[in-house]
Amino acid sequence: MLNKIDHVGVAVRSLEEVKAMYKNIFGLEPVFEEEVAEQKVRVAGFRVGESNIEYLEPTAPDSPIAKYLDKRGEGMHHIAYGVDDIKSVLEAMKENGLRLIDKEPKVGAEGKLIAFVHPKSLNGMLVELSQEK
Ligand code: ZN
Repeated sequence: MLNKIDHVGVAVRSLEEVKAMYKNIFGLEPVFEEEVAEQKVRVAGFRVGESNIEYLEPTAPDSPIAKYLDKRGEGMHHIAYGVDDIKSVLEAMKENGLRLIDKEPKVGAEGKLIAFVHPKSLNGMLVELSQEK
């Protein structure tokens, strides 16, 4: 059901600073960078082995990431599991009483189908399910 750690998401104030750091230290450029309007974030992803690390910068003061930064500062925001069939994973979670933030999959960065699961249901960790197109 869960096939890999797809990515780790980190909340940051400045993507430009992160990109400069990765370029200078690791010689790495983002494998993608895009704005996800629905979540009011700009995302840049770097490839590390078979997973990505994704940095999220808010594009509006009412972005969920802006609220996170105000409350807790920069840092790890969520972990994303790669799944083959997001609907069946959501169904299994629902049947087991887990609290879903997204009851239906939505389109996230790179056009993937994603859904978030509430941290209260998963030991304090915000989890994203992510299915390739
Ligand atoms: Zn993510």
